[in-house]
Amino acid sequence: MSAERRVVLMICDGHRNDFVRPDTCPNIHAFGQRSRRFMRHRAIFPSATRASATSIATGCWPANHGLHGNTMGLPDGDGHRVHDVGDPAFVGKLRSAFGRTLEVPTMAQRLAAHGGAVIASNVSPGAAYFQDPDHYGHVVHRAGSFGPGGSVLGLDEAPVVSHDYAGDEALAEWFATEVLTRRRPRLSVLWLANPDLGMHAAPLGSPTHLEAIACADRAFARVEAAVEALRSEGEDVLFLVGSDHGQESVRERVAVAARLVEAGLKDGPDSTDVVIAPQGGSGLLYVADRARGRIPAIAAFLEAQPYIEEVFTGNEMLAIGQRPGNGLAIVFAMARSAEPNPFGVPGLMTLCVSDEKPGKPEGHGSHGGLGDFECHPFLIANGGGFAAGTLEHGVSRLIDIAPTVMRFLGLPRDGMDGLPLPQD
Ligand SMILES: [Zn+2]
Repeated sequence: MSAERRVVLMICDGHRNDFVRPDTCPNIHAFGQRSRRFMRHRAIFPSATRASATSIATGCWPANHGLHGNTMGLPDGDGHRVHDVGDPAFVGKLRSAFGRTLEVPTMAQRLAAHGGAVIASNVSPGAAYFQDPDHYGHVVHRAGSFGPGGSVLGLDEAPVVSHDYAGDEALAEWFATEVLTRRRPRLSVLWLANPDLGMHAAPLGSPTHLEAIACADRAFARVEAAVEALRSEGEDVLFLVGSDHGQESVRERVAVAARLVEAGLKDGPDSTDVVIAPQGGSGLLYVADRARGRIPAIAAFLEAQPYIEEVFTGNEMLAIGQRPGNGLAIVFAMARSAEPNPFGVPGLMTLCVSDEKPGKPEGHGSHGGLGDFECHPFLIANGGGFAAGTLEHGVSRLIDIAPTVMRFLGLPRDGMDGLPLPQD
């Protein structure tokens, strides 16, 4: 009898690689020591959850899956407006604008006829729904849970948990008992809100941050026990545990679009000619056709600002996984430094903010840019042919997760940007 192959993917949102230590998360750390741990795992740009969830789900850069960031510009009249991708209504807005949601299939779509996928998420609705925006599998989220074809799942089929530590642990318990043990889909994904939630709420390295990590570590232990029970029954399980990005400490916040208005490069605060979709430590800038002549001047202005570190215009943005088009003309990363915060945690960042997206307060954690620590999530692979007790020092990327899943399940990874991860 050949063993049933299944994949379990668990994401501890925002967990920095340098905080995967025996003193902070003993269960995850010990698991890393008896698995294959990827020491140079890298975030996408922007290092923001919704675009990252989509890259994990598709194996593609934002350039190819089409979801630009946590907020993004959509056509509006003869210009653009910025929309919040976290809003449950955004999937419908994207479909209305372009006649489709993502430009490439998700793992849920690829696995629909091969045992299916169940995705349980406790982060924003957008980050949950963009792992399966066209309803091929099951997505469980407190804002609404859906099955194949978009059927609405009732409380008997999907729990509604709180957006906090207790909710993360309740979702992990349901995931372990109901999804892993009873339903047994081909792919099971659990996406915790922590430690990201606690990191945003307080300084990095503070008791709140450590408590949020401990919450994720307890949830991990519950899931690991369920995975081991499946294996003891003879199932062949690839168990991947990681995060989507890290966080750094906010030192300054700049309303970049307002600075463009002051400089005469944007018509007004609410104008649609030039708009910026803030991503925390970076921004995506959309330009209307009628204003395209201003692109060189806008790029030169941004490059001259001390609060901005890098500016990518046109095809330059391909180098960081974004693509010009649909109005997206310039992307930029905010300034940062490797200095420590008062708790000794390195990495300070400047935020790109707006009236609608004021960002986290100074001193708290945030992300979205190109800082070394916000761009360094963790990843551990266990079972599925990965050599136990080994470290990989080559670079791995979020987009390599889906190809790794497909390889293990013996399915094609056509159209994916990523590559299967090295097993030894
Ligand atoms: Zn995240």
